[in-house]
Amino acid sequence: FAPWEDTEAVPLIRFRNVVKKFGEFTAIENLTLDIYEREFFALLGPSGCGKTTLMRMLAGFETPTAGEITLDGRDIVPVAPNRRPINMMFQSYALFPHLSVADNIAFGLKRSPMPKSEIAGRVEEMLRLVRLQKFASRKPHQISGGQRQRVALARSLAKAPKLLLLDEPLGALDRKLREDTQFELMDIQEKLGTTFVIVTHDQEEAMTVASRVAVMDEGKLMQVATPDVIYEQPESRYVADFIGDVNLIEGTVAEAEEGGYKLVWADGAPPIHAETDVPLSLGDSCTFAIRPEKIAISTDKPDDRANAVPGKVLDIGYLGNISTYHVQMPNGAIFKASATNSRRLSRRGITWEDEVWLSFTATAGVVLTQ
Ligand code: ATP
Repeated sequence: FAPWEDTEAVPLIRFRNVVKKFGEFTAIENLTLDIYEREFFALLGPSGCGKTTLMRMLAGFETPTAGEITLDGRDIVPVAPNRRPINMMFQSYALFPHLSVADNIAFGLKRSPMPKSEIAGRVEEMLRLVRLQKFASRKPHQISGGQRQRVALARSLAKAPKLLLLDEPLGALDRKLREDTQFELMDIQEKLGTTFVIVTHDQEEAMTVASRVAVMDEGKLMQVATPDVIYEQPESRYVADFIGDVNLIEGTVAEAEEGGYKLVWADGAPPIHAETDVPLSLGDSCTFAIRPEKIAISTDKPDDRANAVPGKVLDIGYLGNISTYHVQMPNGAIFKASATNSRRLSRRGITWEDEVWLSFTATAGVVLTQ
């Protein structure tokens, strides 16, 4: 499933050069983006980056200052929110407290053109989808937070929208329930084939549920790609830093030949040998970004890796499945390296204050020029 790689595929949603200003302030800056049918698309970014504004324009609660938004090829900007085949699920589920679970789900259907005779069947179908058949006659205060969240989801899907917008839908749930619910959401989305667009500032959530993620900053799209590409091949320092843990080292290109580079660092860290497709020239400044798990830690110097730097263990963070080591280089910089604990920490025999070697291959990190 990768319609974005298919040049023939027609996007469900197209933003073309969309700008949104609030007075003098530009919340969205010339944004162009395609979202395809059946996608679970995540808008990810820090508070204030414009995620909600983008979603509100899709729903019809905000009008773009400039640019086009189309759905199935049709301009939706002039279409009123309730006339768009789009529904929105908010963080505060806003269930009616005096109505039963079933009546909450039926609410929108009763005000739709659906014949009365079909409503009960549709409600039943939705209850089954979110596994709440047994709770149909309960009131919202008689069910758990996670169950209320599922009622809200069932209600927003009852009218079979083409597009469901989810604004921080799991924000109110505790971590464990949140993780379970993410998988449930993915399951339901896949079953129905409805396009979902989720807004979140939780990178793990976006990476878990989404077919593609748009990372935003200050009203701009920084990168739009599948979660693995966002993680493995970030295009900028911003994206590398925003997603997951990373070591970022700034320096310049000291030697360059056919994709292989020697990078030297402003702060005097040992030079790094890197291979990259990014074309670089001598003297170019760049950032080398490497994930902690791409760095091996050992007591002996490995002789088979392009890069090996000595250091001293300052801290070890034990996280059960992995441990993270903070290692200080001779120049004072601190590197993070992590290793899985399947081979047992005790046998690895590395502890605080130990002199160790950090090593990595020439392709273990990415070289970034922006
Ligand atoms: P959060 O995660 O905090 O919800 P967000 O990424 O969803 O943030 P938006 O709500 O889209 O951010 O806001 C983007 C920017 O536009 C913010 O700087 C915000 O203050 C501004 N903004 C949003 N709505 C309005 C408005 N009605 N009038 C003026 N400024 C606004």
